[in-house]
Amino acid sequence: MRILIILIAISSFSSFSSAQLRYTLSYKDSSASVLKVSVEASSPLTAPLSFIMPRSIPGHYGVCYYDHFITNIFVVSNSGVKYAMVKNGLGAPRWSYADTGRQVVRIEYEVDLNRMERNSMPAEASIVRPGFAGILNYSVFGWIEGTEKQKVQCKVSTFTNWSIFSTNQPAAVLAKGGMDINAENYYELADGQLFMGTAFQVKEFKGITPLFVASYCQTREEWIDDYGLQGTMSMEILKDYFGELPFQHYSIMLIKSLPLEKGNYPSLGMEHLSSSTFFGDTTGMRRTAMSRDDIKRTMPTFLHHMGHALIPLRSYGDAYRPYVMEIPPIINNIWYNEGFMWFLPYDELKLQNMKINFDNSVYKTSSEIKKLSLQQLSQAASTMYSADFRLGRAVFSRGALMAVEMDNYLKEKSNGTRSMKDVLRYLYNWSKENRRPFTMEEFPLLINEACHIDLSSIYKKWLLPIQ
Ligand SMILES: [Zn+2]
Repeated sequence: MRILIILIAISSFSSFSSAQLRYTLSYKDSSASVLKVSVEASSPLTAPLSFIMPRSIPGHYGVCYYDHFITNIFVVSNSGVKYAMVKNGLGAPRWSYADTGRQVVRIEYEVDLNRMERNSMPAEASIVRPGFAGILNYSVFGWIEGTEKQKVQCKVSTFTNWSIFSTNQPAAVLAKGGMDINAENYYELADGQLFMGTAFQVKEFKGITPLFVASYCQTREEWIDDYGLQGTMSMEILKDYFGELPFQHYSIMLIKSLPLEKGNYPSLGMEHLSSSTFFGDTTGMRRTAMSRDDIKRTMPTFLHHMGHALIPLRSYGDAYRPYVMEIPPIINNIWYNEGFMWFLPYDELKLQNMKINFDNSVYKTSSEIKKLSLQQLSQAASTMYSADFRLGRAVFSRGALMAVEMDNYLKEKSNGTRSMKDVLRYLYNWSKENRRPFTMEEFPLLINEACHIDLSSIYKKWLLPIQ
């Protein structure tokens, strides 16, 4: 009888503990810009082990040096002793602890967010301001090698009067002081963003799926209802375009802050699986309701970034991946990810200014850029897309103009019954069914199959340098 009870106890314990990682994030000292993070495995790990910070985030097409802002990184043994981890000597974003056989219960480290902000592009940095912390999860959470597919629980703790909003589990009634976030794995946790503080607002809007707008504006509260309108309108357009929305809820995260350092950066958005973050200074803040014309004029970026939840985050090819990586991939078809997804707002909103900008970025850019083939341009933009935004603009504009030309051709050949909308929907459905990236060889065949109309001469023309 006793043996049986022990066996039951062991088996229920082991099922309870089946590989759940526990992350903690703590921000409780407003005099510093330092977060404390720990990562604890479900059962002690045996050294040697490695900890990795991402260098590549999907949609950024750059190199993120998040490892440079990590300090005081230790392993903690099962007897509670701390041992320093050693940073890779060749500059890799990883640390190791090599005392073979020692049992390790967790890794602890700190992240200095002011240092991150001063040394990063605005769209890749988490920030701290009085009464506010805006966290991009992938900028502060790394992974213990080999654990990245395990289920995750993340405990967030901060000042008792601070509210917390997580894009992983959005809600209009905000948690205070602490929150538990559950994720399928590290990648899902890393995709999320967190707002914490007393100085931001959140509002829920009724769309096809619930839409949350979370806004931090450093100088005064923004008027956020039009963001809600633009978000719910974007949902309707995308549902019509693709036949479905791939998310259960969506969050628009807005950060308008006074920069720590004067810089001259394009204000950019960054897409996630069920959210996007828009970064900028306070000059573009919204004080009152906008006119219908202004709502339409400022709509493309919201539609574009929400559209990324479908392309490329759920329909992609070549070396792009919709999750963080240690080494940024060199991607041959950024023009698909970005150009086709800039074509969509142009196709729906018919803003002629967008077409003028595509033309200018393709034909009136530097001759150095024009002489690159589309593949070379995409490769160059793989790590410099926004760092030298001439490259970003050129590669998405060539993709958008390719899509415009294909759209015209499809309409002409089909007497207006077929268009690029059919092609984009076909590619999205193909990705959903095949659950893998398409190859560069498959892509031209797939776009021909979509409408049974041959697009190869247009495709081949756009692969060439610009004359
Ligand atoms: Zn984009």
